[in-house]
Amino acid sequence: MTQIFDNPAEFAHDALDGFVAANRQYVARVDGGVVRSTEMNQGQVALVVGGGSGHYPAFAGLVGAGLAAASACGNMFASPAAGQIYRVAKAANMNGGVLLSYGNYAGDVLHFGQAQVRLNAEGIETRTVVVTDDIASAPLNEWEKRRGIAGDLTVFKVAGAAAEAGLSLDEVERLAIKTNYRTRSLGVAFDGCTLPGAQEPLFHVPAGMMALGLGIHGEPGISEHPMPTASELAQLLVSRLLADKPDDAGTEVVVIVNGLGTVKYDELFLLFGKVEKLLSEAGLSVIEPECGELVTSLDMSGLSLTLLWLDDELKEYWAAPADTPAFRKGTSTPRAQRSVAAHVAAEAVQLEVPTPAAAALGLQAVGAVGAIRGVVMEHEEALGNLDAIAGDGDHGIGMRRGVDAASAAAQKRAEVDGGASVASVLTAAGEAWSEKAGGTSGALWGTAFIAAAAALGNRESYSPADAALAVAAFTDAITTLGKAEPGDKTMVDSMIPFRDAFLTNVAAGNSVVDSLKDAAVVSKNAAAATANLRPLKGRARPLAEKSLGHPDPGAISFGLIVERLGQHFENELMESGTRA
Ligand code: ADP
Ligand code: MG
Repeated sequence: MTQIFDNPAEFAHDALDGFVAANRQYVARVDGGVVRSTEMNQGQVALVVGGGSGHYPAFAGLVGAGLAAASACGNMFASPAAGQIYRVAKAANMNGGVLLSYGNYAGDVLHFGQAQVRLNAEGIETRTVVVTDDIASAPLNEWEKRRGIAGDLTVFKVAGAAAEAGLSLDEVERLAIKTNYRTRSLGVAFDGCTLPGAQEPLFHVPAGMMALGLGIHGEPGISEHPMPTASELAQLLVSRLLADKPDDAGTEVVVIVNGLGTVKYDELFLLFGKVEKLLSEAGLSVIEPECGELVTSLDMSGLSLTLLWLDDELKEYWAAPADTPAFRKGTSTPRAQRSVAAHVAAEAVQLEVPTPAAAALGLQAVGAVGAIRGVVMEHEEALGNLDAIAGDGDHGIGMRRGVDAASAAAQKRAEVDGGASVASVLTAAGEAWSEKAGGTSGALWGTAFIAAAAALGNRESYSPADAALAVAAFTDAITTLGKAEPGDKTMVDSMIPFRDAFLTNVAAGNSVVDSLKDAAVVSKNAAAATANLRPLKGRARPLAEKSLGHPDPGAISFGLIVERLGQHFENELMESGTRA
C-alpha cells in the first residue's frame, strides 16, 4: 500500500519534486524528468535513461557523475512521453551525442523512438540501446524481445562510465550493446504491488506460493511454484541463469541481488550468500557485486538475480567511480554546480486563424473529443481490470489521463480569439494525449490524432470521403509507429476491420454517421474475437497463456470509442436537424 500522497494522480510528479529537493547537489528538475546539476565535459556523450516511475532508484536516482546525465520520468509504471524525453535530452546534451537507454517495453520503445527521431532531426546525434535482460520473458533465441529489469543498472553503469571517460558515441553505444548482451536476470515475486490510491494489488500470489518470472510493472509471474527454501531459490535462479549464458561468457561475473520493494535487506544478503557459494562452485569469480534495492516495483514483494558476464573492458567500466543519489562507487572528483536553466529551450506555438465556418467545425471536434472522454471514463475501471490479466493494469488510467488532457487541450485551443480549425483542435488534443498518457496506447493515440488532424486540415466542410482519408491516416499512423500486424492481439485487431468497414461504407455512398455506426459494430465484434488470440506484441506478450480467453484491452477501448463517436455524431445530426 502507498499511504503518503495528496492526490494519487499526482503521486509520481510530487515524489519527483521531493526527490529533487532532497538531492539538489546531484540533480535539477526539468519538464519531464531530472538532469545532472553538476558540470559535465563539453563533447561528452549524454546518457539519458528513463521509464515509468515506481522503480526507485531507477531511474532518477541513477543520475550523476559516472552514470546517467539525465532521466526522463514518466507516470507510475508508464513511459515518459516523447516530448518529455526530448526536452530532458536537450537539457543534458553536451554536444557529444545522446545515448537513450531504457528497459524494453512497448510504450518506452515508442516514446523514446519518437524523441530520438526529433533529436536527430535537430542535428543532435542520438542512438538507442534497449535493455533486454529478463530471461523469463522470451527464449534465448529471441533475446531481443526480452523485457528489461534489474539489468538496466549494468547497462547504464558501463555506458555512463564510458561517457564520463570521454569515449565517442559509437564506443559508448558499442559498450552498452555488449553489456546488455552479456547481462541476464530472473525474478520471483511473493506478492504483488499496489498503485498509489488503489485498494488492491495488481495481482496476488497465493499463500505459500512463489511466482517465477515476474515483470517490474506488476505483471504477474509466468509460472507459480511452491515457496522454496533460500537454498532452493538460490539454486533455481543460478541454474536458470547459467543455462542461459551468452557465447564467450568467461569466468568473471558481476552479481546483483535486487530487492523489488518489500523484501528485507537481511533476506537479500542471506540469498546473496547462497548465490555466491553456488557461483564459486561453478568455477566463477564474483566481481564487485551489488545487493540491495536497485530497480524496484513499488511495494512488490520479490527479488531478482542478475549476472553480467565481464570481459576486460566491461570490468574497467563497471568498476569506475560513480556518484549519484542512489548509487555510489569509488571516489570521483567533485564537480561544480552548473546552470540548468541555460540548457532548457522554450517552445513556441504558431496558430493560424480559421474562418468562422472552420472554427464552428473546430468546436464540433472539441465535442467529439469530449464524447471520447465520456466513454473512456465509463469504462476506465473495466479496461484497467482487463489489462491486469496479462499486462500491467494501467490501460484504464492511461487512457483516462490521455483523454482528460486531450479534451482539456482541445477546449483550450478552441477558446483562443477567432477559434481554431479541426486540424488545430485535434493536433492540440493529440499532443496532450501523448504527453500526459504515457504507456503504449498514449503514444499511439496521440500520434494517430495528430495524423488524422493533418489529413482533415483547416476547412469549412468535410465530405464522407474526407472522413475516410482521416480514418486511413489515423490507422496508418498506428501501424507505422507500433508496427503491430493483424493477429498480434493489439488495438490493430479491432482498428483495421473498422477502417475497412468504414471505407467500404463510404465507397458505397453511405453517410459518415451510418458508416461509423456500421464499422463500429464490426470493430466491437473484432475486439471481442481477440480473446482467442495470443499476444505477440506489447506488454502482454510474455504472459500469452494468461491472456488467452480474454480480449485485448486496447482493441476493446478502440471499439468502444468508435461506437460512442457514431452515437455522438448521430445525436449532433438530430439536434442540428431539430434546430433547422
Ligand atoms: P502499456 O502496454 O504501455 O501498459 P496500455 O496498457 O495503455 O499501455 O495499452 C495497452 C494496449 O496497447 C494493448 O492492449 C494493445 O492494444 C496496445 N498495443 C500495445 N502494443 C501495440 C503496438 N505495437 N501496436 C498497436 N497497439 C499496441
Ligand atoms: Mg498497460
